[in-house]
Amino acid sequence: MRVLVFAPHNDDEVLGVGGTIRSHVLAGDEVTVCEVTSGLMYKTLQAEARKAHALLGVTESIFLNLPVSKLADMPKTELNGRIGEVVKKVGPQIVYIPFIGDMHLDHRYVTEATLVAVRPINDCPVKKVYMYETLSETGWNLPYGERNFTPNVWVDITNGIDEKIAAMKCYESQIKDYPNPRSEEGIRALAMFRGNTIGYPFAEAFMLVREIRGGYSRLIIIYASLLGLVVASGKSGVSL
Ligand SMILES: [Zn+2]
Repeated sequence: MRVLVFAPHNDDEVLGVGGTIRSHVLAGDEVTVCEVTSGLMYKTLQAEARKAHALLGVTESIFLNLPVSKLADMPKTELNGRIGEVVKKVGPQIVYIPFIGDMHLDHRYVTEATLVAVRPINDCPVKKVYMYETLSETGWNLPYGERNFTPNVWVDITNGIDEKIAAMKCYESQIKDYPNPRSEEGIRALAMFRGNTIGYPFAEAFMLVREIRGGYSRLIIIYASLLGLVVASGKSGVSL
């Protein structure tokens, strides 16, 4: 299984998906992390990202180097194109994106561009799309009902919480002291809350955007078309 995680900023992937990335790796999945933006500290942050990704077992780290905090100023078509190229290159079955209602506009624009890239057309391989929560972003959004993070998928990360925290500590320039939400205690507290919601010690929570199951009938259609058979609505040929 190929998994692709989009992080608008370095460390979003660890805060939102760190434990789940570890679970995918342990299950034998290939995980690619795409860091979308960079700024003045890019050398430090990208070195920290590579360290964190190595610790989690990430297969590939992609750095798009788009301007941080300025995605809103980019032409939408250009951002969509850059994100689309990554999806095409990786060919993932599972994609993780930030919550659409996060306070930082970069998060929203990355999510919107990814939704364009993973549309279920043109042989897109993506079968599952999840939105993740980011400490100090998701919790600081406006209190509008439709913009609240309401998880419907939980991943037990009890075996990966230590790696998640260790990965965040690789981001020496970003991890803070408690009570900042981006602290070891803050990360552990959220994981405990998400965990005890489902009766586990630690979890990460997600909002499922789309899941596509099966695909057998589509294979039949492709096979039938290769044989030159007519498969449309039972008029003649193969009935599906
Ligand atoms: Zn961010």
